[in-house]
Amino acid sequence: MNGFRNFMIGRYGTDQFTLALLIAGMILTFIGNAFKLKLLTMFTYVIFLACVYRTMSRNITARQKENNTFLRYWNPLRSWFKTKYNIVKSSRNYKYFKCPKCKQELRVPRGRGKIVVTCQKCNTKFIQKS
Ligand SMILES: [Zn+2]
Repeated sequence: MNGFRNFMIGRYGTDQFTLALLIAGMILTFIGNAFKLKLLTMFTYVIFLACVYRTMSRNITARQKENNTFLRYWNPLRSWFKTKYNIVKSSRNYKYFKCPKCKQELRVPRGRGKIVVTCQKCNTKFIQKS
């Protein structure tokens, strides 16, 4: 294990981008095998090689730059999915709707009848059935 640690000194290691590539590669391998797509399977080799290359790379600045570019697209996507997941999870207890003025997503507890809602973003008041 010590030899491996010495080997990895000064090398970049793994980050979110490598992990995402790895997961994408595994999914594509699965699809490639399921539909017998040789070209796709070949492409996954390129992805896995890129993972190894990025992990072993000594050009840390370049790898960090790649990871930052990846995160710039990935983070908004992730928070969008997280929001949608939370809405689905809590939709039994809360009713979701958009503010008629600023389109901010709002929620109220279900089963309170018609209530006056004040948008937290633009302070618009409107009546909403809960
Ligand atoms: Zn609003």
